[in-house]
Amino acid sequence: MVDPAECTIKVMCRFRPLNKSEVERGDKYIPKFTGEDQVSISGKPFMFDRVFGSNTTQEQMYKASAQKIVKDVLDGYNGTIFAFGQTSSGKTHTMEVSYFEIYLDRIKDLLDGMYYVLWHIVPWFSVPDEVMDTIDEGKSNRHVAVTNMNEHSSRSHSIFQINVKQENTATEQKLSGKLYLVDLAGSEKVGKTGAEGAVLEEAKNINKSLSALGNVISALAEGSTYVPYRDSKMTRILQDSLGGNCRTTMVICASPSAYNEAETKSTLMFGQRAK
Ligand code: ADP
Ligand code: MG
Repeated sequence: MVDPAECTIKVMCRFRPLNKSEVERGDKYIPKFTGEDQVSISGKPFMFDRVFGSNTTQEQMYKASAQKIVKDVLDGYNGTIFAFGQTSSGKTHTMEVSYFEIYLDRIKDLLDGMYYVLWHIVPWFSVPDEVMDTIDEGKSNRHVAVTNMNEHSSRSHSIFQINVKQENTATEQKLSGKLYLVDLAGSEKVGKTGAEGAVLEEAKNINKSLSALGNVISALAEGSTYVPYRDSKMTRILQDSLGGNCRTTMVICASPSAYNEAETKSTLMFGQRAK
């Protein structure tokens, strides 16, 4: 069912609405949506697989960016969904994990009877071996809920892994896939924030790992024979999900305020490069 050489990468872009303080300050709303796949900032056009305006609902977003990947994971593919953007651009809002849980619960109900389905949602910092043990030991459906996703620091990447194992109880045929949900650290440039010392070092590391990720995604998107996975810890970790048999979507999140124009442009450029 799975063609290992088949890999798809999609880059989408979502603008959140102006927030309260931006409205109070009288900030101008700058994106101009010029098509389903194009947005302009001060006359500069940016193309993506899809562009979503500020009134896009969570459900519309889920259907357009994640539903297909979740289905493919159930068919044995590995999938990864990234949210990229400056702090407060809507990354965590876009990745809310509860959507995946609701969808998986519905699938469980549909498959009930003929299939035995097992999944786990695990925060990245869990020990992989321990996770495998828990999966193997189960003969009942198990579910580890995720908490505090909203509370993670904007200066760190947050990676959630969802493992799905299925067994057709009639034919004993087995299928497994995994899904990574990656809520990336804020992409804002360090210069602006006036960071010093350890904070500056941390920020430089984040920028380094984000650019390493950009290099990997663009190499994959170009079908390049050399993909620089080893340039960062995150890309090494995600290597088996990003290469080969993969389904990857990058959601570029952006603020619509003129106040963030420079940051928004550099965010969109990053996404454009990945395409
Ligand atoms: P980030 O994770 O990129 O730092 P958040 O997801 O925490 O940003 O979003 C910042 C704030 O904006 C939150 O209060 C969030 O609820 C709100 N927000 C983000 N995106 C949207 C959206 N599309 N619609 C409504 N509110 C949003
Ligand atoms: Mg966040």
